[in-house]
Amino acid sequence: ISFMIEPIQRLTHMSTQFQEGITGFQRFMEIMNLKPTIENKPNALILSEVHGEIEFKQVSFRYEDHLDSVLVNLSLRVQPGEYAALVGPSGAGKTTLCSLIPRFYEVTHGDVLLDGISVRDIDLRSLRNNIGIVQQDIYLFAGTVMENIRYGNPAASEEAIIAAAKHANAHDFIMNLPNGYHSYIGQRGVKLSGGQKQRLSIARVFLKNPPVLIFDEATSALDNESESIVKESLESLAKGRTTIVIAHRLSTIRNAKRIIVLTEDGIAEQGTHEALLARDGVYAHLYSKQFELA
Ligand code: ADP
Ligand code: MG
Repeated sequence: ISFMIEPIQRLTHMSTQFQEGITGFQRFMEIMNLKPTIENKPNALILSEVHGEIEFKQVSFRYEDHLDSVLVNLSLRVQPGEYAALVGPSGAGKTTLCSLIPRFYEVTHGDVLLDGISVRDIDLRSLRNNIGIVQQDIYLFAGTVMENIRYGNPAASEEAIIAAAKHANAHDFIMNLPNGYHSYIGQRGVKLSGGQKQRLSIARVFLKNPPVLIFDEATSALDNESESIVKESLESLAKGRTTIVIAHRLSTIRNAKRIIVLTEDGIAEQGTHEALLARDGVYAHLYSKQFELA
């Protein structure tokens, strides 16, 4: 198994997260002290070729120990290779919805399917190896830039890591660090800007090369210049992958073939930016309110 290689053993303190193949959400759960109650079924399926169709089938979801359901009877299908934006007010359940795809939580009712297979029937590692996540809260650990990118695929060669960094528009700034790829990130190491960190996390996902991508966009963390570089990297990352972007910025949304508007009452409407504006509904309202999407 590719996980049993030397660079990982050097990082045993984080081996659990590593094996799950997922960074931020997992860490979030650890911070929140949530028990990992989600386990593999006996004989869980190991995926071979994944096309990346995602389907939510009448999904209801409620956090454990909470009375109110976040999602009620929600159905949604995202085609392989589609670029879909998810927008809506803060607390509507966008992040929650996306966290059901890598099965960070179990649905309360209904089912989430990848290529028509229930995520409950898929081997967890295999499932999560096929999903890349870029989110606001980027998890970097104390180590070199190279080690931090390698996190996306522990078996990757240096050449592959550099190629991934180039795809992510990260190579140039990395080369300008005092020790290039061997610069140390951490308390005593180099300080990176928000946009640089995000590009490192995009490089990780390039390296991982999953057919499904989830991007939980930051609201305001990036300045304009970083924003346009990150946007460019993300667009190139999204090519050929099923991409769900939880979008805050208009530029991200404009590129989407489909915008899905989620409110506390479920999916309110979906369509292109122009179609939704013409509809003069929830989206048009959010949009006119100076784009106060969260
Ligand atoms: P959005 O991403 O659209 O802002 P979230 O999915 O983060 O919405 O949250 C949806 C609802 O679920 C909110 O009411 C939020 O407070 C609640 N929530 C989010 N995460 C958790 C959690 N780990 N435990 C309990 N409730 C949560
Ligand atoms: Mg969110």
